Amino acid sequence: PQAESPRRIAVMGATGSIGDNALQVIAASQGRLTAVALSAHSRLERLVELAKKFTPKWVIATDEVAAKAYKWRGLPKETELLVGAEALEQVARDAEVDTVLAAIVGSAGLGSTLAAVEAGKTVALANKETLVAAGPIVKKLADKHGATLLPVDSEHSAIFQSLKSGTRSEVHRIVITASGGPFRTWNADALRQVTVDEALAHPTWDMGPKITIDSATLMNKALEIVEARWLFDLPADRIEVMIHPQCIVHSMVEFVDGSVIAQMSPPDMRLPIQYALEYPHRREAVAPRIDWTQRMHLEFEPADIGRYPAIELGFRAARKGGTAGVVVNAANETAVAQFLEGELHFTEIVPACKSVLESHNFNPTPTLDELAKLDQWARREVENWVCA
Ligand code: NAD
Ligand code: MG
Repeated sequence: PQAESPRRIAVMGATGSIGDNALQVIAASQGRLTAVALSAHSRLERLVELAKKFTPKWVIATDEVAAKAYKWRGLPKETELLVGAEALEQVARDAEVDTVLAAIVGSAGLGSTLAAVEAGKTVALANKETLVAAGPIVKKLADKHGATLLPVDSEHSAIFQSLKSGTRSEVHRIVITASGGPFRTWNADALRQVTVDEALAHPTWDMGPKITIDSATLMNKALEIVEARWLFDLPADRIEVMIHPQCIVHSMVEFVDGSVIAQMSPPDMRLPIQYALEYPHRREAVAPRIDWTQRMHLEFEPADIGRYPAIELGFRAARKGGTAGVVVNAANETAVAQFLEGELHFTEIVPACKSVLESHNFNPTPTLDELAKLDQWARREVENWVCA
C-alpha cells in the first residue's frame, strides 16, 4: 500500500512547554507528522533555532515590536516569516494545514483556535482557556464546520480515551484527578506567605509559568472542570474531582454499571500530545512507560472544598455557563500576572476571581463580542481590586 502523506501540523506556541513536547513527538514520528508552521511571541532566537531544525513553511512572530527589532539571521530560505497575531489565524485556516496544535497560553490563543474551527480543521487543544471562555460557541462552530476537537490536556485526554469503553448514555460520571499542587499539606498561615519561587516549583509536571501557578492555586482544576463540561457536553453534577498526588491516573470515567475506566501513564505530556496528533492511531511510545518491576502506591482522596475554594469556583462556573467562564478566566489571568509581579498574595488569587464572578453582569447566551468586552472588564476589575 502507498505510504500516507505526512500530517501537517501548525504548532501555535512552539516555544512553550507544550510546543517543546509536541516538537519532540513530531521529530520522533518517522515522518508521519510534519511541522508546517511554528509560532512564538517573544523568544525569537529559539524560534529561529526550531525553524532550522524543522524547516516549516511559515514561522509566525506574534509580538510585532519584538519581531521588527529582531535581525532574523539564520532563518531557512524555505521558511516564510509572518508577523502579528492575525498571521496565526491566516495560517490556522490555510489549506496546507491539517491539524492546529493550540498551545498558546491564555486568551491570546482564542483567535487562532476559532479560525481553525471555522476552517473545519482538526484542533489538538492544549489551550484550555479557549473552552473556558467560549466553550458553547467553540463547540457550536465545530459542529457547524465539521471541525474535530481533540484534547491535549492530560485529564481530558484520559477521559476521551476512557469514554471509548461505552456509549454516551452509558456514562454515569467523569472523575477528574488533581495532584493537589505543591502546597497540598501546607496550613493556612503558610499558604499566605507562599513566594513566587515556591509557587513556580511543581512537584510532578514541568510546565509554563501561568499553568504552574494555576496548578498551585488549583485554578487549573477549576478551568479543567469547565473545559470538561463543554468538551464532553456533561452537566457539572456529572463531574467529580479526586486528589491523586502521584499523577499516574490522569482521570476516569464511571459508567452506569459501576465500572470505572481509567487511563494511566507516568506524568509526561508527550503521551497526550502524541495521542491527539496521531489520532485515531496509537504509536510506539515517545514518553516513558510505567515500570511494573517497581512497587507502586496510588492514593485517592476526595477534594476538600473548604481547603480548595478554586474547585468550588470551577463547579460554579461550569454550572452557570454563559459569561461565567470568560470572567473567571480573565480575572485569573490578570491575578496570576499580578502575583508574579509581587502585587498580589498567593491566597488572594482565587478570592479575586470569585469576587469578579459574583459582581459581573451575567448573560446566559453571550456573543463573541460580548465575551471580549467582559474579558476586558474582568481584567480591569482585578487591577482595581489589587489597588483597593
Ligand atoms: P508556556 O508559557 O510554556 O508557552 C506559551 C506559548 O504561547 C509560547 O510559545 C509563547 O510564545 C506563546 N505566547 C505567549 N503569549 C502569547 C501571545 N500574547 N500571543 C501569542 N502567543 C503567545 O505555556 P505552556 O505550559 O506550554 O501552556 C500552553 C497552554 O497549554 C496553556 O493554555 C496551558 O494551560 C495548556 N496546558 C499546558 C500543559 C503543560 O504541561 N505545560 C498541560 C495542559 C495544558
Ligand atoms: Mg491538565
